[in-house]
Amino acid sequence: MATPVEAQGSCDVDPNRSTAPPLLVVIELRHIMTQFNLKMIFFDHRLTQIRHIWQLCDPVGARCGQTTHRRRGSIPMDDGLAILRARSAIWGRDPTLVQGAGGNVSLKIDDTLWIKASGTWLADADRQDILVPVALPLADPPRVKDGHRTALRPSIETSLHAALPHRVVVHVHSVDAIAHAVRSDAPAILTQLLSGLSWALVPYRKPGLELAAAVRDAYVATKAEIFVLANHGIVIGADDVDMAEALLREVVSRLEIAPRAVVQPSAKPHNVSVPGYRAVTDLRVAALAIDPASLAVALAGPLYPDHVVFLGAAPLVVGAYDEIAPALSRAQRGGHPAVRWIIVRDNAVLIADDALRGSEEMLRCLGDVAARLAPGTPLAPLATADIDALIDWDAERYRQAMATPAVATPTCAV
Ligand SMILES: [Zn+2]
Repeated sequence: MATPVEAQGSCDVDPNRSTAPPLLVVIELRHIMTQFNLKMIFFDHRLTQIRHIWQLCDPVGARCGQTTHRRRGSIPMDDGLAILRARSAIWGRDPTLVQGAGGNVSLKIDDTLWIKASGTWLADADRQDILVPVALPLADPPRVKDGHRTALRPSIETSLHAALPHRVVVHVHSVDAIAHAVRSDAPAILTQLLSGLSWALVPYRKPGLELAAAVRDAYVATKAEIFVLANHGIVIGADDVDMAEALLREVVSRLEIAPRAVVQPSAKPHNVSVPGYRAVTDLRVAALAIDPASLAVALAGPLYPDHVVFLGAAPLVVGAYDEIAPALSRAQRGGHPAVRWIIVRDNAVLIADDALRGSEEMLRCLGDVAARLAPGTPLAPLATADIDALIDWDAERYRQAMATPAVATPTCAV
């Protein structure tokens, strides 16, 4: 497990060493280059954003592109919302950053925190109203501001967004970041890869109030703008959406890992019907059953919270299709939770027909993370107590209810 919060981003320079002046010059140059790179990244994405802003006239019909400060009744708004919605849709449609209803964003305007609603998808941000206004300071529990009519609830992570002073806060489940954040040696690896950036490592905490407190502690200790959450993902704090985007791209590029090539199954998924389950055809998911290194990751135990919430503590693992029915019967007799996914070694991954919407995206996430972990990588899976705390968690039941059982979209008969 990662060590507790550590201040990062400062340069360890010994003033007594004779090499101090050159080192300082190098460090300063590196800092300048980092800032330059961030500005270039910002510029690179600016044109895309402008296009999206023009497509996304704000809900009150004000002209897009203006930077005027407006109100909807007592609720303040500005064009940052349109920019955030446009950018959130792009983040949400990138499965290496966001999977299903995971991840969340926020924008502070005066005494209002606009936050993603629980259970909604960032991918829908440019076609649905997924942001809800919440009064600051937060009520307990946080609730949507009076005057804003919606059936949606604020994100489970609302307290995390409010805990940071930054105007824009972005939280994503980057598979590259997760591949580092689930390692037992994450502190040393991240210190090397994120050198020169203003960042902090936050130890694993249950999402919600516990995680918000840990992120707040990390901010107080380091004043960082990038937070790597152990066994979870990334949080970025910035003055505006453009800077958040630039920081996010910088972190992800620093942490990028080339995934192993997808391994083809030696035989097609068996043409045997397994009532209630279907094979996932995405080979990045199937690799969890076929690629020995990915299978080892899948068997190591849950690595991050959304996997537990959507897919449970563990899959059923069998060596052949005819072992599935008796294994399911044994699990049922033993009072075990419903089996949400099955690994048929060397062949396929099956998912329950009634799995929550977004479950396949969570399997894709695990496949992507596993493909980025070399054989023998030291892993720090979630502890049993942490897994138990996520299962049957009241706050998650609402998000699960939002993810109504997916309509079975058979991808391959087994
Ligand atoms: Zn998260």
